[in-house]
Amino acid sequence: MKFAILSKGDRKSNELRTKIKNYLAEFKLEYDEDTPELVISVGGDGTLLEAFHTYLHRLDDTAFIGIHTGHLGFYADWMPEEVEKLIIEIARTPFQVVEYPLLEVMIKQKEHEEEERHLALNECAIKTSEGSVVVDIDIKGDHFETFRGDGLCISTPSGSTAYNKALGGAILHPSLEAIQVTEMASINNRVFRTVGSPLVLPAHHTCVFRPLNEKSFLFTIDHLTRTYSNVESIQCRVAKEKVRFARFRPFPFWRRVHDSFISDQYNDGE
Ligand code: NAP
Repeated sequence: MKFAILSKGDRKSNELRTKIKNYLAEFKLEYDEDTPELVISVGGDGTLLEAFHTYLHRLDDTAFIGIHTGHLGFYADWMPEEVEKLIIEIARTPFQVVEYPLLEVMIKQKEHEEEERHLALNECAIKTSEGSVVVDIDIKGDHFETFRGDGLCISTPSGSTAYNKALGGAILHPSLEAIQVTEMASINNRVFRTVGSPLVLPAHHTCVFRPLNEKSFLFTIDHLTRTYSNVESIQCRVAKEKVRFARFRPFPFWRRVHDSFISDQYNDGE
């Protein structure tokens, strides 16, 4: 089996990366950064987001696994102390895989024929540096509301514990094929009115955002931000692709939620 390792870049993560690489070589596993079947990210959830975007073109053939060198993560849920155990499990391939839904974002600019397609593991955030975001929101082809405010966040179930949670969104179990739309400080008065609550959309519902002014938008897809001008529409839905995680032991999602937000048993003070 071919594997690659992506490190956060700090000393602790780099040392662990070297250790894992050497151990797996002893088990005759091949290191291959071009066509890995297993991508090991060493760092945090942010590092796994980077690994995901690095190997976006190989989602069907690559499984991810995350080791945290800081605090417990949602994707990075193995501790450095467990590395030896993990390596023995990896060497015993084939391994079990769990799949999580992704978000598809299609951005249409007025001057371009083609839409630009993106996939997000956590979310897409729509903001502007020029005042408020003003957009019409259509759900499944019908006008739903006109939003005016700081911005909008459209998240995946596994991303629901990230930015979405900070915005008051619900935590969704990643076995649900859904996306969630959360508002950032909507303006509500007699002229502008939004529902106010986060919306959870099933896989067969598409949400379209149509800007009502000529402002440029800041689109953040996971950790990557770009500015777009002359945006005609932004369409969001559950993607047909999924992300695959290698599972070597049970670590149920609700336990991860508990251990991350309620108990500090894995907090090593970093
Ligand atoms: P960052 O600002 O350096 O770190 C964002 C934090 O979010 C890190 O602590 C990261 O964990 C954590 N995180 C990432 N994915 C998560 C998930 N699925 N569940 C729970 N926590 C998660 O940015 P970054 O490292 O480049 O990561 C980009 C992400 O930051 C975005 O996708 C967005 O979700 C999140 N974000 C959050 C807020 C907020 O909560 N107010 C605001 C902007 C962006 P690690 O420390 O393990 O890497």
